[in-house]
Formats: sequence, structure tokens, C-alpha cells
Amino acid sequence: MARAGNKNIQAKLVLLGDMGAGKTSLVLRFVKGQFHEYQESTIGAAFFTQVLSLNEATVKFDIWDTAGQERYHSLAPMYYRGAAAAVVVYDLTSMDSFQRAKKWVQELQRQAGNPKLIMFLVANKADLNEKRQVHNEEGEQYAKENGLSFLETSAKTAQNVNELFYEIAKRVAKAT
Ligand code: GDP
Ligand code: MG
Repeated sequence: MARAGNKNIQAKLVLLGDMGAGKTSLVLRFVKGQFHEYQESTIGAAFFTQVLSLNEATVKFDIWDTAGQERYHSLAPMYYRGAAAAVVVYDLTSMDSFQRAKKWVQELQRQAGNPKLIMFLVANKADLNEKRQVHNEEGEQYAKENGLSFLETSAKTAQNVNELFYEIAKRVAKAT
């Protein structure tokens, strides 16, 4: 329940990034507290809602995950339309997925057309540090240069997953 005087905010959040980066896993970790080693690459439902209560506001997220469309390396304009926040995910064990993430950032900046869009770059699979191909500093640097916030996460261990969504919720609340 929202406390009296608090803002009730509805915010659309979209996830981008190549297949296999862990977008669906991050959402399922956040929404259901679950992780699946063999996450189905295309799941039926690509839409989730989750409510986060902050001191200053209650934020209801409409989370748009892809149901495999990202394999075509572009997403329909309706996917971005009206989004308050976007999370671009890559797999830190794959330099390829980092390079692709940069393309997604460019696509996002071209398509979303919203200068107030809250953008995060997320390096996922931090639990696989021994297989790491992308240094923390590389991700951080790219994010900084392009106006995105940066976090390393693991959907497997839950590292920084709640932090990511809370941080987005706070930023959304502040901007609303
Ligand atoms: P998506 O295509 O971006 O939605 O990626 P998925 O969520 O389907 O994840 C692809 C694969 O990576 C699945 O086998 C997941 O179990 C695995 N995966 C996702 N996140 C992590 C993580 O943080 N750590 C590890 N070790 N594996 C992960
Ligand atoms: Mg997926």
C-alpha cells in the first residue's frame, strides 16, 4: 500500500541486449527470486510487472522483456515507446556481447527519442569472473562516455540485481 502523500508512479522499463546476455534471467531473479541454469531462450510471457516501495514513492514497473525478437538485432518502435528507463545488458564473459551492447545503446539513442530516458549498462554473469573477457573498467568507461549508469550483476547469485531495479526506481521517482 502506498502511504498517504506518496507518489504512485507507473514506469515502463525495457531490456535490450543480445540473446544469451541474461535479460530474462535478471527479470526472473528480480520478480520471482528464481534462477534457471537452462533458461528457455524464448518464453511465452515477455511482460512482467513488479512494484517497488520507496520512502518517497511507490513505483510500479511494467517490464518489457523480449521473446526472442532481439535475434534480429532490432526491436519494434513500440517496444521503446513511452519507456522511462532502459537497461542494456551484456555478458561479461563475451567480448562479442559487449560490442553488440554498444550497438544496442546506439539503437536505443536513435529510436527512443527521449532525452530524459534513464539508461543503465549492465555487465551480467559476474559470477563467471574466471571467464571474464570484458574488464569492469571497459564497461564503466563506455557507460560514462555515453551517459549511462553502470553496474555488474549476476542473475545467478543475485549480485546487484535488486540494487539495479531500486536504483532505477529511485531515479524514476526523482524525475517524476
Ligand atoms: P537472454 O537471452 O538475454 O534473455 O538470456 P537468458 O536470461 O535466457 O540467459 C541465457 C543463459 O545464460 C541461460 O542459460 C542462463 O541460465 C544463463 N545466465 C543468465 N544470467 C546468468 C548469470 O548471471 N550467471 C550465469 N552463470 N549464467 C547466467
Ligand atoms: Mg530472454
